[in-house]
Parts: sequence; C-alpha cells; structure tokens
Amino acid sequence: MEHISPGERAAELRRELNYHGYRYYTLDDPVIGDGQYDSLIRELREIETAYPELLTPDSPTQRVGGDPSPAFDEVEHSRPMLSLGNAFDFNELAAWHRRITGLLDGASFDMVCELKIDGLAVNLTYQDGILAQGATRGNGTTGEDVTRNLRTIKTIPISLLRGAPEHLEVRGEVFLPIAEFQRLNEERAERGDPLYANPRNTGAGSIRQLDPKVTAARNMEIWVYALGDPNAPEVPRDHWAALDWLHGLGFRINPENRPCRTLDEVQDYYQSWLERRHDLPYEADGVVVKVSSLDMQDQLGVVGREPRWAIAYKFPAEQAVTKLLHIGINV
Ligand code: NAD
Repeated sequence: MEHISPGERAAELRRELNYHGYRYYTLDDPVIGDGQYDSLIRELREIETAYPELLTPDSPTQRVGGDPSPAFDEVEHSRPMLSLGNAFDFNELAAWHRRITGLLDGASFDMVCELKIDGLAVNLTYQDGILAQGATRGNGTTGEDVTRNLRTIKTIPISLLRGAPEHLEVRGEVFLPIAEFQRLNEERAERGDPLYANPRNTGAGSIRQLDPKVTAARNMEIWVYALGDPNAPEVPRDHWAALDWLHGLGFRINPENRPCRTLDEVQDYYQSWLERRHDLPYEADGVVVKVSSLDMQDQLGVVGREPRWAIAYKFPAEQAVTKLLHIGINV
C-alpha cells in the first residue's frame, strides 16, 4: 500500500469532509452515510490530536454545520449554536463523566437524558410573546432566516401562553415524522419521481425552501430542547426545570426526556431506546446527556465548537437498513 504522511492524510480528509459537509448541510443531499462521515471525522481528529501542528482553523473538526445559503437573509445568533462531542460506547461516556467531575472539583451533578432527534436545529425568537424570527443553525454564528417557513409548522407556537418574558429565544429540532416521510414518498412513487433518501435530509430540505407553501404541505414537527439565552432572569437555573417552564409557555417538550443521577441510569435509558428506537414515530440517532445545573454548565463552558457540559451518546449507525425500511421494503 502506498505510504502517505499524516499531513497528506489530514489534507485529504479535510477535502473529503468539506465536500460531504457541503452535500449534507448546504444541499441536504449527502452521498455517504452518517456512520461513514463520523468515522472520517474521527480519523481526522485523531491525527490532529497526535500532530497538533496539522490543525488548521478551517478544519471540519473546528467548524459547525455549513455556511448559510445566500438564498436567505442572514441571522446573527445572539449566542453560538454549537455542535456536540460524541461518545460511541459506555467507556467514552464514562470518560466524559470523569473529566467533568474533575473540572467540577469532584462535585456530583444531576443530568438530563434526551433523545437526539435527527432533524434540523432552529432558533426561535419571541418578542412580547409573539414569534418574531426563526433561523437555522447555519455555521453556528450565522444562520438563515426561515421565519416564513417555520410559521407554517403547527407545533411551533405563534403566540405564547401567559408569563412569557418580553424577549425569549428557544432552540429545538424541527423534524419530518417517519409516517409523513413515507406519505411523501408514496406520492412521489405514484408520480414516478425519484424517492427521497431519508427523513432527516427531506425534513431539512423542507425548511430551507423559498416557498413556505412547500413547508406547509409537509407536516413537520418540533421538539424544543434549550433556551437561546439561559441567563435571562426569568429562567430557572436548572435545565430540567427550564424545560418544564418552557412547557408551561406552550412549547413542545419531548415527554421521553428523563432526569438521571447516575451513569447506570443514563446507560439504562440509552439501552432501552437502543432496543426501541424504531418504535419512535421520528428518527433519533442517540441520546444527548446534559449536566442539569445551569451554574455548572457555565462553569464547564465550551471547548472549540462543543459545550463540555453535554455529550451525544450515539446509537450504532445503521443507515443502509433504515433507508430500506422507510420505503416499506421488508428485509
Ligand atoms: P451534532 O451531532 O454535533 O449535534 C448537535 C445537534 O444535535 C444540534 O445542532 C441539534 O440540532 C441536535 N439535537 C437533536 N436533539 C437534541 C437535543 N435533545 N439536545 C441538543 N441538541 C440536539 O450535529 P452536527 O454538528 O450537525 O453533526 C453531525 C451529524 O451530522 C452527525 O451525525 C454526522 O454523521 C452528520 N453528518 C453527516 C454527513 C454525511 O455526509 N452523511 C455530513 C455531515 C454531517
């Protein structure tokens, strides 16, 4: 086999990953599976850790998502919309837990487990309780203004219930339910159009449409999972309590979220969803584990493009199988 240096391999991986990032984030039309993408990025990260001098600021390991499309107005996020670090097995999860326990001087902490919904992250801004703006994550600092499209999603409240602060930003995942994806594909099959590949990219493409009627015709949904500005005075200083507070304002919070105190509880939650993930009416590619105390979140902060206080505990990739199941072929 031809020998290539770590520098050459890193450059090759950056080129490949930038291309796949563009296909996924900008075109909503990836050509490789998520598992493949994850192992390429992992390989690049390993080279950059072993040879820090090879790290470049434009490396896909340092960036969030893709640049906003010029087809939409740009929105500067008041706080960056970040990515998440990954754990691919229990040992990696336990290492994350040990690391942050150390950073918190050995203090114990409560966690919240949430399903990692495979959709499109959005930031919703409410002014005087009324939806004023909705934006995609974009490259993390600048997103796309998709307000007109998000207004057509029935599970996004246009006006909030009593008690909403004057200015409120929330973040959540907009997704295309599997049944809706299948319905769209049945319609396409009848017309002889090529089938959509999967709910995630069809859903993301449905939000990044110039004509809101297209979004409106696809029954998209949202789960809200965070505040855009958790330091607002009205917000409880605990993530679990903050989700409950958001629910009281009329936001859709996933009822499968669970508070957990120990790593064993996190593992039970993960294992039970690993076995039942296909019973969900939407796609989830793992569990997001978050430190619940907002003061501890602040103390832990962010490293690069990832908060230290949360981690995505990923389900093993199974792209090829799910694609076939979604279009109704029995395998
Ligand atoms: P990420 O894996 O870093 O996770 C962050 C995102 O998780 C958030 O932006 C949010 O949208 C989402 N999320 C869902 N549920 C959440 C919850 N309960 N709490 C908090 N966040 C939640 O996301 P990313 O940076 O977009 O990246 C990578 C994902 O995209 C990977 O799974 C990767 O495989 C895939 N990807 C695939 C390709 C490809 O070519 N197939 C290319 C690029 C990225």
